[in-house]
Amino acid sequence: MKYKNFPMVPRVVFGRGSFNQLNDILAPKRKNAKAPFIYLIDDVFKNNIWLISRIELSYDDRIIYISSAEEPKTSQVDELVEDIILSTKERPSGIIGIGGGTLLDLAKAVSIMLTNEGESHEYQGWDLVKNPAIYHVGIPTISGTGAEVSRTTVLTGPDKKLGINSDYTPFDQVVLDSELTKGVPKEQWFYTGMDCYIHCVESLEGTYLNEFSKSYGEKAFELCKSIFLEGALSDVESQEKLMMASWHGGMSIAYSQVGVAHAMSYGLAYVLGVKHGIGNCIVFDQLEEFYPEGVQMFKAMKSKYNIELPEGICRDLSDIELDTMINVSLGLEPLWENALGKGWKQKMTAKKLRELYKKM
Ligand code: NAD
Ligand code: ZN
Repeated sequence: MKYKNFPMVPRVVFGRGSFNQLNDILAPKRKNAKAPFIYLIDDVFKNNIWLISRIELSYDDRIIYISSAEEPKTSQVDELVEDIILSTKERPSGIIGIGGGTLLDLAKAVSIMLTNEGESHEYQGWDLVKNPAIYHVGIPTISGTGAEVSRTTVLTGPDKKLGINSDYTPFDQVVLDSELTKGVPKEQWFYTGMDCYIHCVESLEGTYLNEFSKSYGEKAFELCKSIFLEGALSDVESQEKLMMASWHGGMSIAYSQVGVAHAMSYGLAYVLGVKHGIGNCIVFDQLEEFYPEGVQMFKAMKSKYNIELPEGICRDLSDIELDTMINVSLGLEPLWENALGKGWKQKMTAKKLRELYKKM
Protein backbone atom coordinates (compact mmCIF):
# COMPACT_ATOMS: atom_id res chain seq x y z
CA MET A 1 0.00 0.00 0.00
CA LYS A 2 1.36 3.35 -0.98
CA TYR A 3 -0.22 5.35 1.84
CA LYS A 4 -0.17 4.08 5.38
CA ASN A 5 -3.48 3.44 7.09
CA PHE A 6 -2.90 4.39 10.71
CA PRO A 7 -5.09 3.83 13.74
CA MET A 8 -5.59 6.70 16.19
CA VAL A 9 -6.56 6.82 19.85
CA PRO A 10 -10.34 6.31 19.60
CA ARG A 11 -11.32 7.96 22.90
CA VAL A 12 -9.87 10.88 24.78
CA VAL A 13 -11.00 12.98 27.73
CA PHE A 14 -9.47 16.43 28.16
CA GLY A 15 -9.84 18.71 31.14
CA ARG A 16 -8.57 19.75 34.51
CA GLY A 17 -9.89 17.25 37.04
CA SER A 18 -11.00 14.75 34.38
CA PHE A 19 -9.03 12.08 36.26
CA ASN A 20 -12.03 12.01 38.64
CA GLN A 21 -14.02 10.33 35.86
CA LEU A 22 -11.66 7.39 35.52
CA ASN A 23 -13.75 4.93 37.55
CA ASP A 24 -16.85 5.72 35.47
CA ILE A 25 -14.88 5.32 32.25
CA LEU A 26 -13.53 1.93 33.28
CA ALA A 27 -16.67 0.41 34.82
CA PRO A 28 -18.33 -0.66 31.54
CA LYS A 29 -15.05 -2.25 30.41
CA ARG A 30 -14.92 -4.70 33.31
CA LYS A 31 -15.40 -8.20 31.92
CA ASN A 32 -16.31 -9.94 35.20
CA ALA A 33 -15.29 -10.13 38.84
CA LYS A 34 -12.30 -12.33 38.07
CA ALA A 35 -10.85 -10.08 35.39
CA PRO A 36 -9.18 -7.21 37.22
CA PHE A 37 -7.92 -3.83 36.17
CA ILE A 38 -4.17 -3.55 36.68
CA TYR A 39 -2.75 -0.09 37.27
CA LEU A 40 0.90 0.51 36.43
CA ILE A 41 1.81 3.72 38.24
CA ASP A 42 5.07 5.66 38.51
CA ASP A 43 6.36 5.13 42.04
CA VAL A 44 6.79 8.88 42.43
CA PHE A 45 3.04 8.77 43.30
CA LYS A 46 3.31 5.98 45.86
CA ASN A 47 2.29 8.02 48.88
CA ASN A 48 0.39 10.64 46.95
CA ILE A 49 -3.08 10.48 48.47
CA TRP A 50 -4.31 13.31 46.24
CA LEU A 51 -3.92 11.04 43.21
CA ILE A 52 -4.14 7.47 44.50
CA SER A 53 -7.23 7.92 46.69
CA ARG A 54 -9.25 8.68 43.57
CA ILE A 55 -8.68 5.20 42.15
CA GLU A 56 -11.40 2.77 43.25
CA LEU A 57 -10.06 -0.76 43.46
CA SER A 58 -12.71 -3.51 43.33
CA TYR A 59 -12.47 -7.31 43.30
CA ASP A 60 -8.89 -8.28 42.36
CA ASP A 61 -7.86 -4.92 40.92
CA ARG A 62 -4.38 -3.91 41.88
CA ILE A 63 -1.74 -1.25 41.62
CA ILE A 64 1.83 -2.04 40.64
CA TYR A 65 4.20 0.82 41.40
CA ILE A 66 7.14 1.07 39.03
CA SER A 67 10.25 3.21 39.13
CA SER A 68 10.98 5.26 36.03
CA ALA A 69 14.64 5.73 36.97
CA GLU A 70 15.47 3.56 33.96
CA GLU A 71 13.72 3.38 30.63
CA PRO A 72 11.55 0.31 29.93
CA LYS A 73 13.32 -2.92 29.08
CA THR A 74 11.97 -5.95 27.25
CA SER A 75 12.98 -8.15 30.22
CA GLN A 76 11.02 -5.89 32.56
CA VAL A 77 7.94 -6.17 30.36
CA ASP A 78 8.25 -9.97 30.27
CA GLU A 79 8.54 -10.15 34.07
CA LEU A 80 5.51 -7.92 34.57
CA VAL A 81 3.46 -10.03 32.17
CA GLU A 82 4.47 -13.23 33.91
CA ASP A 83 3.62 -11.77 37.31
CA ILE A 84 0.21 -10.63 36.06
CA ILE A 85 -0.57 -14.00 34.47
CA LEU A 86 0.41 -15.89 37.61
CA SER A 87 -1.52 -13.65 39.98
CA THR A 88 -4.81 -13.20 38.11
CA LYS A 89 -7.58 -15.76 37.71
CA GLU A 90 -8.48 -14.53 34.26
CA ARG A 91 -6.97 -12.29 31.64
CA PRO A 92 -7.26 -8.72 33.03
CA SER A 93 -10.06 -6.41 31.91
CA GLY A 94 -7.54 -3.68 31.27
CA ILE A 95 -4.13 -2.15 31.92
CA ILE A 96 -3.96 1.48 33.01
CA GLY A 97 -0.63 3.31 32.77
CA ILE A 98 -0.19 6.43 34.90
CA GLY A 99 3.04 8.41 34.59
CA GLY A 100 5.39 9.72 31.92
CA GLY A 101 6.59 8.10 28.70
CA THR A 102 8.20 5.31 30.70
CA LEU A 103 4.96 4.16 32.35
CA LEU A 104 2.86 4.77 29.24
CA ASP A 105 5.19 2.61 27.18
CA LEU A 106 5.20 -0.14 29.82
CA ALA A 107 1.39 -0.18 29.87
CA LYS A 108 1.24 -0.47 26.09
CA ALA A 109 3.83 -3.23 25.96
CA VAL A 110 2.30 -5.26 28.80
CA SER A 111 -1.15 -5.07 27.22
CA ILE A 112 0.28 -6.38 23.95
CA MET A 113 2.28 -9.19 25.56
CA LEU A 114 -0.72 -10.47 27.54
CA THR A 115 -2.29 -11.63 24.27
CA ASN A 116 0.79 -12.46 22.20
CA GLU A 117 3.09 -15.42 22.64
CA GLY A 118 6.80 -15.39 23.33
CA GLU A 119 8.99 -12.57 24.58
CA SER A 120 8.64 -8.87 23.95
CA HIS A 121 11.99 -8.45 22.16
CA GLU A 122 10.58 -10.62 19.35
CA TYR A 123 8.13 -7.81 18.57
CA GLN A 124 10.59 -4.90 18.43
CA GLY A 125 10.22 -3.55 14.92
CA TRP A 126 7.35 -2.77 12.59
CA ASP A 127 4.04 -4.64 12.42
CA LEU A 128 5.13 -7.87 14.07
CA VAL A 129 2.28 -8.07 16.60
CA LYS A 130 -0.34 -10.67 15.64
CA ASN A 131 -3.17 -10.37 18.17
CA PRO A 132 -4.98 -7.29 19.44
CA ALA A 133 -3.78 -6.12 22.86
CA ILE A 134 -6.08 -6.06 25.87
CA TYR A 135 -7.89 -2.82 26.64
CA HIS A 136 -5.33 -0.22 27.69
CA VAL A 137 -5.60 3.30 29.04
CA GLY A 138 -2.90 5.99 29.14
CA ILE A 139 -2.87 8.81 31.68
CA PRO A 140 0.14 11.11 31.29
CA THR A 141 1.48 12.94 34.34
CA ILE A 142 4.23 14.80 32.47
CA SER A 143 3.96 16.16 28.93
CA GLY A 144 6.18 16.02 25.89
CA THR A 145 6.92 12.55 24.60
CA GLY A 146 3.70 12.06 22.67
CA ALA A 147 3.67 8.46 23.95
CA GLU A 148 0.01 9.00 24.87
CA VAL A 149 -0.89 9.24 21.19
CA SER A 150 1.79 7.28 19.34
CA ARG A 151 1.74 3.91 17.62
CA THR A 152 4.90 2.69 19.33
CA THR A 153 6.24 1.60 22.68
CA VAL A 154 9.98 2.11 22.92
CA LEU A 155 11.88 -0.70 24.65
CA THR A 156 15.50 -1.48 25.29
CA GLY A 157 16.10 -5.10 24.38
CA PRO A 158 19.05 -7.48 24.41
CA ASP A 159 20.47 -6.06 21.19
CA LYS A 160 18.68 -2.83 20.43
CA LYS A 161 16.53 0.05 21.59
CA LEU A 162 13.55 -0.06 19.28
CA GLY A 163 9.81 0.32 19.51
CA ILE A 164 7.03 -2.19 19.10
CA ASN A 165 5.33 -0.33 16.28
CA SER A 166 1.93 -1.81 15.51
CA ASP A 167 -1.73 -1.08 14.94
CA TYR A 168 -2.43 -2.64 18.36
CA THR A 169 -0.04 -0.37 20.26
CA PRO A 170 -2.08 2.88 20.56
CA PHE A 171 -4.18 3.33 23.69
CA ASP A 172 -7.91 2.57 23.59
CA GLN A 173 -8.50 5.49 25.92
CA VAL A 174 -6.45 8.48 27.04
CA VAL A 175 -7.21 10.81 29.93
CA LEU A 176 -5.60 14.24 29.57
CA ASP A 177 -5.81 15.97 32.94
CA SER A 178 -3.11 18.64 33.04
CA GLU A 179 -3.51 18.97 36.81
CA LEU A 180 -1.64 15.68 37.14
CA THR A 181 1.50 17.38 35.81
CA LYS A 182 1.62 20.09 38.47
CA GLY A 183 4.38 18.47 40.56
CA VAL A 184 6.94 17.90 37.80
CA PRO A 185 10.38 19.35 38.75
CA LYS A 186 11.62 22.18 36.52
CA GLU A 187 14.56 20.35 34.90
CA GLN A 188 12.45 17.32 34.03
CA TRP A 189 9.67 19.58 32.76
CA PHE A 190 12.19 21.17 30.42
CA TYR A 191 13.78 17.93 29.19
CA THR A 192 10.49 16.16 28.45
CA GLY A 193 9.01 19.37 27.02
CA MET A 194 12.01 19.68 24.70
CA ASP A 195 11.33 16.17 23.44
CA CYS A 196 8.14 17.64 22.02
CA TYR A 197 9.93 20.70 20.64
CA ILE A 198 12.52 18.47 18.98
CA HIS A 199 9.79 16.25 17.51
CA CYS A 200 8.41 19.38 15.86
CA VAL A 201 11.72 20.59 14.46
CA GLU A 202 12.68 17.15 13.17
CA SER A 203 9.29 16.60 11.59
CA LEU A 204 9.01 20.08 10.05
CA GLU A 205 12.60 20.04 8.72
CA GLY A 206 12.41 16.46 7.48
CA THR A 207 12.18 15.21 3.92
CA TYR A 208 9.11 13.11 4.80
CA LEU A 209 7.10 16.22 5.58
CA ASN A 210 3.54 16.38 4.27
CA GLU A 211 0.49 18.53 5.05
CA PHE A 212 -0.81 16.04 7.61
CA SER A 213 2.37 16.17 9.69
CA LYS A 214 2.89 19.84 9.03
CA SER A 215 -0.48 20.90 10.39
CA TYR A 216 0.13 19.10 13.69
CA GLY A 217 3.82 20.02 13.83
CA GLU A 218 3.23 23.71 13.28
CA LYS A 219 0.61 23.84 16.02
CA ALA A 220 2.84 22.02 18.48
CA PHE A 221 5.79 24.25 17.56
CA GLU A 222 3.74 27.38 18.16
CA LEU A 223 2.58 26.06 21.56
CA CYS A 224 6.17 25.19 22.55
CA LYS A 225 7.31 28.66 21.60
CA SER A 226 4.68 30.31 23.76
CA ILE A 227 5.54 28.04 26.70
CA PHE A 228 9.32 27.96 26.57
CA LEU A 229 10.28 31.20 24.84
CA GLU A 230 7.62 33.85 25.31
CA GLY A 231 6.67 32.50 28.74
CA ALA A 232 3.99 34.96 29.88
CA LEU A 233 1.61 32.14 30.79
CA SER A 234 0.05 31.14 34.09
CA ASP A 235 1.03 27.70 35.41
CA VAL A 236 -2.34 26.26 34.46
CA GLU A 237 -2.19 27.67 30.92
CA SER A 238 1.34 26.42 30.50
CA GLN A 239 0.43 22.90 31.70
CA GLU A 240 -2.62 22.71 29.45
CA LYS A 241 -0.77 24.01 26.43
CA LEU A 242 2.14 21.62 26.90
CA MET A 243 -0.26 18.69 27.18
CA MET A 244 -1.75 19.60 23.81
CA ALA A 245 1.66 20.33 22.30
CA SER A 246 2.75 16.82 23.24
CA TRP A 247 -0.35 15.38 21.58
CA HIS A 248 0.15 17.36 18.38
CA GLY A 249 3.88 16.68 18.31
CA GLY A 250 3.14 12.97 18.56
CA MET A 251 0.55 13.19 15.80
CA SER A 252 3.02 15.06 13.62
CA ILE A 253 5.61 12.28 13.70
CA ALA A 254 2.98 9.57 13.23
CA TYR A 255 2.87 10.44 9.56
CA SER A 256 6.53 11.42 9.18
CA GLN A 257 9.60 10.62 11.29
CA VAL A 258 12.00 12.08 13.79
CA GLY A 259 15.56 12.94 12.78
CA VAL A 260 19.20 13.38 13.74
CA ALA A 261 18.70 14.17 17.45
CA HIS A 262 16.60 11.08 18.03
CA ALA A 263 18.87 8.83 16.01
CA MET A 264 21.85 9.96 18.08
CA SER A 265 20.10 9.99 21.43
CA TYR A 266 19.07 6.34 20.97
CA GLY A 267 22.79 5.55 20.79
CA LEU A 268 23.46 7.49 24.01
CA ALA A 269 20.60 5.69 25.72
CA TYR A 270 21.74 2.26 24.61
CA VAL A 271 25.36 2.58 25.70
CA LEU A 272 25.16 5.02 28.61
CA GLY A 273 21.56 4.66 29.75
CA VAL A 274 20.99 8.40 29.21
CA LYS A 275 17.25 9.03 29.38
CA HIS A 276 15.31 10.19 26.35
CA GLY A 277 14.47 13.77 27.31
CA ILE A 278 17.86 14.86 28.59
CA GLY A 279 19.64 12.79 25.91
CA ASN A 280 17.78 14.61 23.17
CA CYS A 281 18.74 17.93 24.72
CA ILE A 282 22.44 16.97 24.98
CA VAL A 283 22.46 15.95 21.32
CA PHE A 284 20.30 18.72 19.93
CA ASP A 285 22.54 21.35 21.54
CA GLN A 286 25.31 20.22 19.11
CA LEU A 287 23.22 20.02 15.93
CA GLU A 288 23.37 23.59 14.66
CA GLU A 289 24.74 22.31 11.36
CA PHE A 290 21.55 20.33 10.70
CA TYR A 291 18.90 22.48 12.35
CA PRO A 292 20.35 26.04 12.54
CA GLU A 293 17.21 27.93 13.54
CA GLY A 294 15.79 25.18 15.72
CA VAL A 295 19.01 24.89 17.71
CA GLN A 296 19.33 28.65 18.11
CA MET A 297 15.84 28.82 19.57
CA PHE A 298 16.61 25.82 21.79
CA LYS A 299 19.61 27.64 23.22
CA ALA A 300 17.47 30.68 23.96
CA MET A 301 14.91 28.51 25.77
CA LYS A 302 17.66 26.79 27.70
CA SER A 303 19.09 30.05 28.95
CA LYS A 304 15.65 31.49 29.75
CA TYR A 305 15.11 28.64 32.20
CA ASN A 306 18.74 28.41 33.38
CA ILE A 307 19.15 24.83 32.27
CA GLU A 308 22.69 23.45 32.41
CA LEU A 309 23.26 20.31 30.41
CA PRO A 310 25.88 17.71 31.37
CA GLU A 311 29.07 17.92 29.32
CA GLY A 312 31.76 15.46 28.34
CA ILE A 313 29.63 12.34 28.76
CA CYS A 314 31.29 10.64 25.77
CA ARG A 315 34.80 11.81 26.55
CA ASP A 316 35.97 8.63 28.26
CA LEU A 317 34.20 6.07 26.12
CA SER A 318 36.25 3.19 24.72
CA ASP A 319 36.40 2.63 20.95
CA ILE A 320 34.15 -0.39 21.34
CA GLU A 321 31.54 1.61 23.22
CA LEU A 322 31.67 4.39 20.66
CA ASP A 323 31.31 1.88 17.83
CA THR A 324 28.25 0.38 19.49
CA MET A 325 26.77 3.83 19.89
CA ILE A 326 27.42 4.63 16.25
CA ASN A 327 25.96 1.32 15.06
CA VAL A 328 22.79 1.69 17.12
CA SER A 329 22.35 5.17 15.72
CA LEU A 330 23.12 4.39 12.08
CA GLY A 331 20.76 1.41 12.30
CA LEU A 332 17.82 3.80 12.52
CA GLU A 333 17.64 4.24 8.77
CA PRO A 334 14.20 5.87 8.45
CA LEU A 335 15.27 8.62 10.86
CA TRP A 336 18.39 9.43 8.86
CA GLU A 337 16.53 9.26 5.58
CA ASN A 338 13.91 11.64 6.89
CA ALA A 339 16.59 14.03 8.17
CA LEU A 340 19.06 13.99 5.29
CA GLY A 341 17.23 12.52 2.31
CA LYS A 342 17.76 9.40 0.23
CA GLY A 343 21.50 9.94 -0.08
CA TRP A 344 21.97 10.18 3.70
CA LYS A 345 24.75 7.59 3.79
CA GLN A 346 27.07 9.98 1.94
CA LYS A 347 26.26 12.76 4.38
CA MET A 348 26.41 10.89 7.66
CA THR A 349 29.34 8.52 7.97
CA ALA A 350 30.58 6.65 11.04
CA LYS A 351 33.53 9.05 11.16
CA LYS A 352 31.33 12.12 11.20
CA LEU A 353 29.07 10.61 13.83
CA ARG A 354 32.06 9.82 16.02
CA GLU A 355 33.17 13.47 15.85
CA LEU A 356 29.71 14.62 16.86
CA TYR A 357 29.48 12.19 19.78
CA LYS A 358 32.94 13.28 20.94
CA LYS A 359 31.58 16.82 21.40
CA MET A 360 28.95 15.60 23.87
P1 NAD B 1 9.62 9.51 32.47
O1 NAD B 1 8.36 8.78 32.34
O2 NAD B 1 10.88 8.71 32.43
O3 NAD B 1 9.59 10.37 33.80
C1 NAD B 1 10.62 11.30 34.06
C2 NAD B 1 10.66 11.68 35.53
O4 NAD B 1 9.54 12.49 35.86
C3 NAD B 1 10.59 10.48 36.46
O5 NAD B 1 11.51 10.68 37.50
C4 NAD B 1 9.17 10.50 36.97
O6 NAD B 1 9.06 9.90 38.23
C5 NAD B 1 8.90 11.97 37.03
N1 NAD B 1 7.50 12.36 36.98
C6 NAD B 1 6.54 12.02 36.07
N2 NAD B 1 5.38 12.64 36.35
C7 NAD B 1 5.60 13.38 37.47
C8 NAD B 1 4.78 14.25 38.24
N3 NAD B 1 3.52 14.53 37.90
N4 NAD B 1 5.33 14.83 39.33
C9 NAD B 1 6.63 14.60 39.67
N5 NAD B 1 7.44 13.81 38.97
C10 NAD B 1 6.93 13.21 37.88
O7 NAD B 1 9.81 10.68 31.40
P2 NAD B 1 9.30 11.00 29.95
O8 NAD B 1 10.28 11.98 29.44
O9 NAD B 1 7.87 11.36 29.94
O10 NAD B 1 9.42 9.62 29.18
C11 NAD B 1 10.62 9.12 28.65
C12 NAD B 1 10.34 7.77 28.06
O11 NAD B 1 9.38 7.90 27.02
C13 NAD B 1 11.54 7.07 27.45
O12 NAD B 1 11.57 5.74 27.87
C14 NAD B 1 11.29 7.16 25.96
O13 NAD B 1 11.85 6.08 25.25
C15 NAD B 1 9.80 7.15 25.91
N6 NAD B 1 9.23 7.75 24.70
C16 NAD B 1 8.23 7.09 24.08
C17 NAD B 1 7.64 7.61 22.95
C18 NAD B 1 6.54 6.86 22.29
O14 NAD B 1 6.02 7.32 21.29
N7 NAD B 1 6.15 5.72 22.77
C19 NAD B 1 8.04 8.84 22.45
C20 NAD B 1 9.07 9.51 23.11
C21 NAD B 1 9.65 8.97 24.24
ZN1 ZN C 1 11.20 11.80 21.41
